[in-house]
Amino acid sequence: MAQFTDKVALITGGGSGLGEAISNELAGKGASVVVTDINLDAAQRVVKEIVDAGGIASAVQQDTAKKEDSEMAVRYAVDTYGGLHLAVNNAGIGGKSAPAGETDLDEWDKVIGINLNGVLYGMRYQIPQMLKAGARNCAIVNMASIHGTVAAPGNGAYTAAKHGVVGITKNAAAEYGLQGLRINSVGPGYIRTPLLENNLTPEVMDALADKHALGRLGTSEEVSHVVCFLLSEEASFVTGSYYLIDGGYTAV
Ligand code: NAD
Repeated sequence: MAQFTDKVALITGGGSGLGEAISNELAGKGASVVVTDINLDAAQRVVKEIVDAGGIASAVQQDTAKKEDSEMAVRYAVDTYGGLHLAVNNAGIGGKSAPAGETDLDEWDKVIGINLNGVLYGMRYQIPQMLKAGARNCAIVNMASIHGTVAAPGNGAYTAAKHGVVGITKNAAAEYGLQGLRINSVGPGYIRTPLLENNLTPEVMDALADKHALGRLGTSEEVSHVVCFLLSEEASFVTGSYYLIDGGYTAV
């Protein structure tokens, strides 16, 4: 039996990059996967990849900054597959660059809305279903970043949102630990995904690579493996943690 057989998983922002790799790995290991994304075409493309490879998946359009979309996505998972066991609150954007004193305040609201509020909105509706499904069989991973612990100069909203993700993860883990529900966050360094490729020049990407002790950017699969570990029984005594997957970025 595959590792996640009989588990239902929901991944936000699953239509690209890290969410795509996580959706693929979970489905490959037996989970029924609800791939949500604000870009429905992107989610449907990933679902097709999964189904073509013999897996089980459905696409849902969701804006994580909208409370009602988080409720709808969880309801879809329960109505379609009978419950919810695993969730990865992954959707996020970079945001426009500006120092704190020149912050575009609408841009601040947008980044906080998707990257931080979206994580709490997700858990708000995922956790009650996990308690129903048997919390000890369930787990959540929230997508933070190295900027959950160090600054991203010029992008305070991103740094604040990711620090907030680390914090709300610890809180939720403390609140549901006695029931056996495990909730962790991860802190990737810079990973070669469309988020970087569409926004940064090759020169900037090379300069970023040099900031990692391993001297390179990470891959989506290197993040996905750790996320799937945290969602699995192998991580049965891990909760409230902030797992760095940063090629040594924050060690130096
Ligand atoms: P990506 O741009 O490749 O994928 C993000 C996906 O989220 C896209 O499919 C996009 O359509 C979707 N999305 C955007 N806004 C949304 C919304 N409001 N609701 C639902 N979906 C939405 O980016 P990625 O690099 O895979 O990043 C995924 C997550 O990982 C983000 O939270 C990001 O902050 C985090 N992260 C990325 C890196 C990196 O270097 N790539 C490093 C650390 C953390």
